[in-house]
Amino acid sequence: MNKKLRQAIIAGNWKMNKTRPEAKALIEALIPVAKNATCGVVICVPFTNLETAVELTKGTNIKVGAQNCHFEKSGAFTGEISADMLTEMGVEYVVIGHSERRQYFGETDVTVNKRTKAAVAAGLKVLLCVGELLEEREQGITEEIVGLQTKVAVMGLTADEIKNIVIAYEPVWAIGTGKTATDEQAEEVCAYIRGVVEKLYSKADADAMTIQYGGSMNPKNAAGLLTKENIDGGLIGGASLKAEDFAVLLEAASK
Ligand code: PEP
Repeated sequence: MNKKLRQAIIAGNWKMNKTRPEAKALIEALIPVAKNATCGVVICVPFTNLETAVELTKGTNIKVGAQNCHFEKSGAFTGEISADMLTEMGVEYVVIGHSERRQYFGETDVTVNKRTKAAVAAGLKVLLCVGELLEEREQGITEEIVGLQTKVAVMGLTADEIKNIVIAYEPVWAIGTGKTATDEQAEEVCAYIRGVVEKLYSKADADAMTIQYGGSMNPKNAAGLLTKENIDGGLIGGASLKAEDFAVLLEAASK
């Protein structure tokens, strides 16, 4: 399938940034710059900003995402948020399996799979993160790692459900480090992931899937990455916190 027939999505991952007044100011600045984007536009904000974001973006082309959700529907899980709680608020997307969750909060491929299934069952679209560590790349096992992460994450999802999954290829060594994968490195792994999806589901499902790159994408390097055949947008950390930077990425993905 031609890249142009897939939806490119630029998703901001605000991480643990922005108080409510700061979030309000950023969203108000984003609304006019996002207005003419032809790509999908998503902002994944901290839980405390979800209500503000949902309210402010009503009637705009900006969709709101959370940065995690629990796999159980309710119960004794102190500090956690369920997928149903998110959909009830009007949240449409959720990031699952971000490397920071894997690195600092004990997230595993198995819990990523459980969260992904719960999110999809609740009606959320999932921005599913996969990516190798630097030492794994140096060991030449990037494809094995990313392939396994992808396969386990979507285990048990039907062909219908897989339509709600966006995969974000995020090499861990490139997240928040200022080191970006080269256009070719990013394209190679995104194409590999598409091949994994094709084997698990079908060519049509793989061709239709939005596969993003994430890892220090910024106004300077976005154009090269985003023109690659298998890269359909980006998951953006640092550069999503400034409206003028995010605007450049939206423009690059809208071409
Ligand atoms: C991210 O948080 O997913 C990310 C890619 O961060 P950064 O753009 O800051 O590397």
